[in-house]
Parts: sequence; C-alpha cells; structure tokens
Amino acid sequence: MTVAVETKDVWKTYPGGVRAVRGADIRIEPGELMVLVGPSGCGKTTILRMIAGLERITAGEILVGDRVVNKVAPSKRGVALVFQNFALYPHKTAAENIAFPLESAGVPKSEIQPRVAAVAEMLELTTQLDRRPGELSGGQQQRVALGRAIVRNPSVLLLDEPLSNLDARLRVVMRTELKRIQRAIGSTAVYVTHDQVEAMTMGDRIVVMNDGVVDQIGTPQEVYLTPASVAVAKTIGSPAMNLLAGVASATGGAVRIEGDEWALELDGDGGAHVARSLEGLAGARVVLGVRPVDLDLRASAAPRDEGGPAVLASGTCLTAEPLGSETLYNVTVAKELVRVLRYETHVGIREGERASVALAPGARLHVFDETSGKRLAGVALQADGMGARWRPYENADPL
Ligand code: ATP
Repeated sequence: MTVAVETKDVWKTYPGGVRAVRGADIRIEPGELMVLVGPSGCGKTTILRMIAGLERITAGEILVGDRVVNKVAPSKRGVALVFQNFALYPHKTAAENIAFPLESAGVPKSEIQPRVAAVAEMLELTTQLDRRPGELSGGQQQRVALGRAIVRNPSVLLLDEPLSNLDARLRVVMRTELKRIQRAIGSTAVYVTHDQVEAMTMGDRIVVMNDGVVDQIGTPQEVYLTPASVAVAKTIGSPAMNLLAGVASATGGAVRIEGDEWALELDGDGGAHVARSLEGLAGARVVLGVRPVDLDLRASAAPRDEGGPAVLASGTCLTAEPLGSETLYNVTVAKELVRVLRYETHVGIREGERASVALAPGARLHVFDETSGKRLAGVALQADGMGARWRPYENADPL
C-alpha cells in the first residue's frame, strides 16, 4: 500500500449550490499526520466528512488504502472520526465509554477488557478508568474520546478540531500528546484545524485550503518558506506576512517594485530571476510578501530615508508590542501597517517616532501576481564579502 487516503479530483456542491470543495487532489501516505488548514468555510470539514463517508461526494473518487470507498458505508471504511464536540456518555465510566464501540460491534466480552486496558495505558488513563466524564479534566475527557476512536484499530484516524474546546495551556500539551499517540498506534491521521500553529507543530505535511480549493501541499517548512499564493501566505506564519501591493517594472534584468511610499530595487541574479517571472504577465501589478522577521527597524530623522538598497520605506512606529523574547513593531507606511519583529529587547525606537523599515540580512521576499494571487518568484538578500546581493530563492533551499 503506497497511499493511505487519496482524494482524486473531489468536488462537493451542497444542495442550494454552495461549492464547498472544488477539485481536491490529496494523497496521504501511510502513517502520516496530514493537517488540513485554512480560514473558516474553506471546505476542510467537508473533505474530512467525505473521507469518513458522512457526506456524499458530488464528483471524483476517494480511496482508503487501495479501495475506492465512494459507495462504502462509513462503518466499513476502517476510519474513525473524533469531533470538536466529542460527546461522552455522562453516566458511563471512562472504561465503559472506551468499550462502547467494541460492544456495539459485537466483540466478545473476554476480548473487550484487555483491549480497553491497552488503549488506556497508551493514553495514560489507567488510573482514571472508573471515573465518569464529570470527574475528569478536559484533557482526560479528550483522551477518553480519542480512546473510543482508536479502540477499534482504525487504519485512518480523522480529527476535526479536536482541541478547540480546551483551554490554551491544555491545547499546547495535547498537541504533543496527540502526535505521540498517533505515532504509537501507527495510524494515518487527517487533522482539521484553522489554527496555523497547530498545523505547523503537528503536521508531517500541511494542506492549505482556501475557498474550496487546495492551494498548496507541503511540509511545514515548505509552506512557510515558499507559500504558493497570497492566501497561503496569509494563513501560515504568525505574525502574518506583510503583503504590500505595488507595480513592478523590469529594465535590463533589474526590477523596481514601487508601492505607496515604498520602493525596492532588485538587481543581480535575484533581479534577473524576478524579471523572468514577470514576462508575459498582462499587467505588472504585484504583491510583495515579506515576513516581519525579515525586516529591520532603524531610527531615522528624515521623512524619506533613501539610505541604501536594503531600505524599503520610512514610516511612523505606531505601536511596539513586547512579546517576551521579541518585540513586534507596527509601522505605518502610507495607508499600510507594516509589521517588524525584532529579537533585541530594545531597538531604540519608541511609539510615535519616525523609523526606516529595512530588509534584514538574509531576508526572503516573495513576489505574487496581484490578479491570480499566485507566487511568481522569490529572492533572498545574501550577504557576502562584497556586500549584500539579491539571489533567486526557491524550493525552501537553505541560504
Ligand atoms: P470551519 O473552520 O468554519 O469549520 P471549514 O473549512 O471546515 O470551516 P466547511 O464546514 O467544510 O468549512 O464548509 C465549507 C462551505 O460549505 C461553507 O461555505 C459552508 O457554509 C458550506 N456548508 C457546509 N455544510 C453545509 C451544508 N450541510 N449545507 C450547505 N452548505 C454547507
């Protein structure tokens, strides 16, 4: 078996005409933890429910293992689903809750007890098995719900925002726990969340969805370092990537991108790389993407600082938010708010002061087509003995 779950050009149109999923092609490998992430309403839950068999598909094929399951009943697919609002039976003990799916399936009593005990041990619930849900913490209840899902040894575990009812601290703990449990049982898992931190920390790979469409599938590193579209760039990374609308013009292999009170010259190999990606584009309206961590902030008395190729703009520091180990600066440049993340505790700029927004050494920039939202090219500012120069940046390659 080379693939655990596959959706082949899957479409879903709900009665009333909502096109919730449009042509999803996703291949999930055995043992993989695949996260579906994207804004509310992008179709994540619909995909999960179609894999589970709880929702009919409008077109396409879904495979679990080597089998097309389009017409297979949910209970015969070898999948188990854990919901956000998992409902445990309040009058049953944890052991009875976990045992319930086995009893319903007619598994002999002599087999049930050892299987419940084994699952409880893996979930570290052994000493809580006699308690009812009301006597368990939120995290323990969540683990009982998980136990109920895994006790039948599903080949695929489907998880729909299973942590969203837990408090922030417990969510962080359960993230690690869930990953450990998934590894221990060796099941393939499909995990739906709108929380990009959960997606990045848990996923072996991530499917980033937007408006019913799969925008990108990749490792957390790949989707973070080379987002395929503006929508992916907005979804992945916190604080979010700065996305500045501008107009690009190419002359002799170099590119100038200009926006409202900011401008950038890209020359060298990087400039030529961006120039090539602009060829054949109807307009030259682009969106420049730069992460807050790739920017630097310098004190500037001048209203418009032209101090070198690495300076992007000058603006006014609106707020400085201390986040502990780093500080997030919000700088107004024309009508935009540019976010700059610095790890120094103090860069010498206070709220209300003028500042230059510069590119940090090693900064990665992404140029997107404003019309389609697709990524056209990436460049990185590489420092060497000759100073800083632009070079092409693709495929999440290390600098
Ligand atoms: P969320 O994070 O808010 O749960 P999601 O990405 O999981 O969102 P889905 O629940 O898959 O999104 O919904 C995708 C789209 O389909 C939405 O526009 C939603 O309103 C619509 N939708 C979902 N279920 C139905 C239904 N039963 N009937 C009609 N439209 C539906």
